[in-house]
Amino acid sequence: MLRRQLVRPLSPCARQPLCTSLRHNTFSTSTRRRLMGMTGFTETQLTVREAVTAVCSHFPNTYWQEHDQNQQDPTEFHAALAKDGWLGIALPEELGGSGLGISEATMMMQTIAESGAGMAGAQSIHGNVYATQPLARFGTQAQLHSTIPNIISGKWRVCFGVTEPNSGLDTLRLSTTAKKQPDGSYKVSGQKIWITCAQVARKMILLARTTPRDEVQNPSEGLSLFCIDLDRTQPGLDMRRIKKMGGCAVDANEVWFDNYPIPADTLIGAEGQGFKIILHGMNAERCLLAGEALGLGYAALGKAAEYARERIVFQRPIGQNQGVAHPLADAYMHLEAAKLATYHAARLYDASKTDTTIRQDAVGVAANSAKYLAAEAAFTACERAVLAHGGMGYSVEFDVERYFRECLVPRIAPVSREMILNYISEKVLELPRSY
Ligand SMILES: Cc1cc2nc3c(=O)[nH]c(=O)nc-3n(C[C@H](O)[C@H](O)[C@H](O)COP(=O)(O)OP(=O)(O)OC[C@H]3O[C@@H](n4cnc5c(N)ncnc54)[C@H](O)[C@@H]3O)c2cc1C
Repeated sequence: MLRRQLVRPLSPCARQPLCTSLRHNTFSTSTRRRLMGMTGFTETQLTVREAVTAVCSHFPNTYWQEHDQNQQDPTEFHAALAKDGWLGIALPEELGGSGLGISEATMMMQTIAESGAGMAGAQSIHGNVYATQPLARFGTQAQLHSTIPNIISGKWRVCFGVTEPNSGLDTLRLSTTAKKQPDGSYKVSGQKIWITCAQVARKMILLARTTPRDEVQNPSEGLSLFCIDLDRTQPGLDMRRIKKMGGCAVDANEVWFDNYPIPADTLIGAEGQGFKIILHGMNAERCLLAGEALGLGYAALGKAAEYARERIVFQRPIGQNQGVAHPLADAYMHLEAAKLATYHAARLYDASKTDTTIRQDAVGVAANSAKYLAAEAAFTACERAVLAHGGMGYSVEFDVERYFRECLVPRIAPVSREMILNYISEKVLELPRSY
């Protein structure tokens, strides 16, 4: 069934010479020309790239076009990656993972996005890779053994519940509460928003307040992290899908809790320490997002260069015009620079686990910078890819419109450009805090 879908010929198109070739819908990292410079990567990263490329090759652009248009979850894609063990890439070997680092996981996420799966493909598995990091580090043995193997096998999917409509980026003001009950369990009340994959997730890594903000010394205290079941048969849980601009294959949701009961053993780490615990996963998430942005940018640029080589107007390839070529060359250099920043940050993140001389704030600066630079480079590449295609850049069939819609996500989430600029201004330049 899936096979048949994948080899389905393209829909008829009026611009015959441009759309009859399946090349326009093939997997971008497997085309003749690979754009990204490959020097400097480790053997393991290259192996990851090759193996993930092989899995992704079964899910060409037509698959992602259809799933985007139909707002259909890429269940088969998630299952294919799970089947080959990729969801456990950065999880401990004793729990069935590969025990690799964020450097390798970033390469995996980049390869997925670059395959043409874009942000949608990346987001369909992203939470399983990074939201599980705090759990793997701070969870009890019982928690780890009951959840992680099911996540790695693909049986359970995971979503991440932090953002709220009334607090936005001011996470410490989130108002979802988890109230402790006499038997040690909790009842959750409040609202989360923009929760990716909540419709298909069995587990949510949830950040909620367990002690009111005015009863703690520091607002970062009193927040707790939980790994909860999203049991839709229980009263007190409701969710609604948000209609969105891009990445429509994956769902994004508002989630409401109203005295939703969760057992005591869903708490990860110590009560009240959830914010510190979650910070551990945030730098990893920024590296992964940077990788996803890079993948999207290279995919778009590959398409643009291919089109610019082949599209003949005024009796010559449009890429022969410097007005077309130079913006693409410039976009390439920005992607390459962001790539160096991204893999530097990922390497630092991994090394800091054992090298105590690497300070966490240095990792934070590197990871935030990488996410910022990669998101900007991806945006530039995607916008220019659409423009290089002229009118066909606006057509679904040429994919760059989908990449363009998706390339705004790394600029917004998990932290916006402005908040990264605030962070660098304050932490590196020692300028007064502006908010
Ligand atoms: C596709 C998508 C998927 C997502 N998935 C998830 C998910 O799975 N789980 C989850 O928890 N969240 C998720 N999010 C939420 C995302 O992390 C937030 O949207 C993001 O953190 C921005 O928060 P906000 O939307 O509340 O923006 P706001 O906080 O409302 O900010 C709005 C704008 O104001 C700017 N701004 C605010 N304060 C300042 C300031 N002091 N200085 C300068 N500028 C400022 C911001 O930079 C931003 O541009 C997702 C979002 C999207 C779009």
